[in-house]
Amino acid sequence: MGDSILVVNAGSSSIKFKLYRIEGADLLPSLSGGMSGIGGTPSLRVTDGRGAVLEDRRFDAAEVPDASAAQHHLSDWLGHHLGDATIVAVGHRVVHGGAAFAEPVLIDDAVLRRLETFIPLAPLHQLGNLDPIRVLRERRPDLPQVACFDTAFHRGHPELSDRFALPRFLHDEGVRRYGFHGLSYEYVAGRLREIAPETADGRVVIAHLGSGASLCALAGGRSQDTTMSFTALDGVPMGTRCGALDPGVVLHLIEHRGMTPAEVGHMLYYESGLLGLSGLSNDVRTLLASDRPEAALAVAFFCRRVAQAAAALAVTLGGLDAFVFTAGIGENAPEIRQRVIADLSWAGLILDNDANRSGVARLDASGSRAQIWIIPTDEERMIAGHTMRLLDRIAPGASA
Ligand code: ADP
Repeated sequence: MGDSILVVNAGSSSIKFKLYRIEGADLLPSLSGGMSGIGGTPSLRVTDGRGAVLEDRRFDAAEVPDASAAQHHLSDWLGHHLGDATIVAVGHRVVHGGAAFAEPVLIDDAVLRRLETFIPLAPLHQLGNLDPIRVLRERRPDLPQVACFDTAFHRGHPELSDRFALPRFLHDEGVRRYGFHGLSYEYVAGRLREIAPETADGRVVIAHLGSGASLCALAGGRSQDTTMSFTALDGVPMGTRCGALDPGVVLHLIEHRGMTPAEVGHMLYYESGLLGLSGLSNDVRTLLASDRPEAALAVAFFCRRVAQAAAALAVTLGGLDAFVFTAGIGENAPEIRQRVIADLSWAGLILDNDANRSGVARLDASGSRAQIWIIPTDEERMIAGHTMRLLDRIAPGASA
């Protein structure tokens, strides 16, 4: 009774988890929470399926120095609070599946070793993703663990979308346009297929606009091209990441400003984007509420780049049947949606302003040449679904 799937989404400074109870073919969220502030001011917070707080506890930095320690604390907590629930499998978000993994995979020693070879491709994220897997393999060697990749959804994209205009040997060494946010795109594409199947078969651009942001072009529900590439820095500007940048700027910072590669990396990942442009905040809410010109510039820059990226992706698709907004900004910021679509009015996109303000699912006005949607994303549910299906394949009936 109470068979459940645990979803773990681990980063360098936080581990989030969500527990889903398996009810037939359905997955019902029963617990969610996580440890944040790892190595700084760690705290564990857990809520139940209705949002009631079950735990809110602070730790000393020395008690939770890294992701492994955090996973031990989470496992201990779950061990005491599961009630009649039994965890039958764990699904992990793993940022990088390299060129090899085009779908989720059951983790064994060989897979884990393979995933370690991708650490140089995403140093901050991949290390944090793998630590909890190792801890759980030590504590519960019998428990099936599944890796679900941010890159996998894009692995079938055409070769034109996979390459940089660099010497060929670099592509062979793995310097490729992998793309990210794949679990979000897969979930949103699946929801679009449920709500509007004919649209899902067409030419669709999804804009995942959260603290990380990218856009993806889909034809028939499959990724054709995306704005993030080798790393999660490319494409549109984000909360603190720069987005597409002339590589000459990086050379300039190193050669003429004397910055080390690590300093440049820190600047591009943590001090740029909306925060860098505005000098004020990485949060769109703060920028929209501000009357400072720098805040207005940052918002204008963001919206313009998102619209430009959508136009470029429409070239890949040979047209556009639907534009979908998702993630924190895409789902919650009507002013950003309005400005992005205004920049696409030349292509015949027309927003229904009342629908946009009220935040309903369908936003296009009559006469618009493409549909416009808001579809909330849910990467954790995508991971839980993948894990349940993989479990069924390896041990039919185990998740029944
Ligand atoms: P992630 O999962 O990558 O941390 P989210 O998808 O949760 O990111 O998006 C977080 C961002 O969404 C915040 O930084 C904020 O800028 C934006 N956001 C959330 N709510 C709103 C809102 N009501 N209006 C404008 N922006 C919002």
